[in-house]
Amino acid sequence: MNHKLKHLKCIAGLLLFCMIFVMMFFTIFTAAHFLHECTGAKCLTCHELHVAEALTKQFAAAIMTVVAAFFTALLSNRIMIADSISPFPGRTLVMDKVRMDN
Ligand SMILES: [Zn+2]
Repeated sequence: MNHKLKHLKCIAGLLLFCMIFVMMFFTIFTAAHFLHECTGAKCLTCHELHVAEALTKQFAAAIMTVVAAFFTALLSNRIMIADSISPFPGRTLVMDKVRMDN
């Protein structure tokens, strides 16, 4: 079970890295193409800038959601560990070193 949790953490970290990388890529793309020779209403660069801006906003919202979920899970885990009841699978009374013999 601990092995599976380690893989999930690895995948979550990789996804977070990819999201941050894509967001930074679009930010750099926007900064690099902000001043361009605009051809008018059907400018492809302007269209790409609008798409990049929309994706950056969506990724920012997704990253904020992930961060909020992470801190919520962290806080609930700390609170629940004190009561020896954890919402995460694999957490047992033995792992919390709870004595049951008195
Ligand atoms: Zn343009």
